[in-house]
Amino acid sequence: MQIKVHRGTHQIGGCITEIKTEQTRLIIDMGSELPSAEKKESTNLEIEGVTKGIPDCDAVFVTHYHGDHVGAFESVLPEVPIYIGKTAKQIYTVVQQTLKRILDKGNPERVNDFKTFEAGNPIYFKDLKVTPYTVDHSAFDAYMLLIEAEGKRILHTGDFRMHGARGRKMPDFFAKYAKDIDVLITEGTMLSRPNEKVLTEHELGKKAKELMRDNKNVFVLCSSTTIDSIAEFYSSAIANKKLFIVCEEEFQLEILRIVSDNSSSPFYSFRKHKIYAYGENLHDIMGKVGFCFIGRANYVTQKAMEAFPDNLLIYSMWSGYLNKNHAAFDEYKCSFVDKATEAGSRLIQLHTSGHATADEIKMVCEITQAKTIVPIHCERPDTFLSLGIKAEIMLLQDGESITV
Ligand SMILES: [Zn+2]
Ligand SMILES: [Zn+2]
Repeated sequence: MQIKVHRGTHQIGGCITEIKTEQTRLIIDMGSELPSAEKKESTNLEIEGVTKGIPDCDAVFVTHYHGDHVGAFESVLPEVPIYIGKTAKQIYTVVQQTLKRILDKGNPERVNDFKTFEAGNPIYFKDLKVTPYTVDHSAFDAYMLLIEAEGKRILHTGDFRMHGARGRKMPDFFAKYAKDIDVLITEGTMLSRPNEKVLTEHELGKKAKELMRDNKNVFVLCSSTTIDSIAEFYSSAIANKKLFIVCEEEFQLEILRIVSDNSSSPFYSFRKHKIYAYGENLHDIMGKVGFCFIGRANYVTQKAMEAFPDNLLIYSMWSGYLNKNHAAFDEYKCSFVDKATEAGSRLIQLHTSGHATADEIKMVCEITQAKTIVPIHCERPDTFLSLGIKAEIMLLQDGESITV
């Protein structure tokens, strides 16, 4: 069996990994690159038989709906089937529909053709078996993939962590389903961010409750699909008897509806308390009882903030976007936050990472008893060498392959 990392051995995101046997060829993730100082636009990677030429690939598996794992899906030849989690497909369809409606970009029709998989249900391709298992990540319905063929077991973790809503179950999960691994292909995002303090989602929720107790009008800037954090903000708003408001009905409200419809966990039920889609007609009641407004760095959120200048702004995204010295600095978000604070908003950062800490990565390497580790989704894969992991660490270059 051959493993080739087409992209992602020395960068976060844009991941594309290939697994090939005598009879089967599989691609895991088809990500677009995240913007950086050097590169504002992602380069479309051409792969013979997958994105060009005669189709020669049994399937593309997408671990989750983040753009750095699925964003380049349109480059896949139409004859090659793309697989994703069932709920992830619904959420990503709404993302693509919104892109099309607002920016005349996106391709919801193609996403509609994606095939779906479910946790624990294996899919067979000739001599190869793929079993998806749910992982804890900031994206909802995210998966790791166990690939079995030619007597070997390969685990591709996708993006994962152990400090979100599903985090506590993860060590047992790895122990139950993913032991005796020959090659562990794992993300290492946080290894280049060692000084970042990582809260659990539960700790984030506790802090959010206190902030909402002490502040009547609360705006939150977060990603529309960071479901664990949004669920924590939602519970905090309910606990403090505030209105819970989202800035887009057809986008954010629809995503929360999909999550509620597809989860049996009360934590993900967004039906316990009414969710309002923002409009000026709400100003009276917002002024009376206070609110938690899940917003974006956009015009609608800005208008709402101008109507309620006495507010707390919770910035619940990665701090690197606001750091002018960082490669991923986001001028648009930064200027939104700057304008808000100039207008009187009290700013606080409250965010937690979607990625495993160094300790969590080490724990997974040990639980899975992996013989070989292949780091991906990582700016500094060499840091794996200093984690004290007893397995062989294979530091690959993009496009390089190994035989298992
Ligand atoms: Zn990622
Ligand atoms: Zn991700």
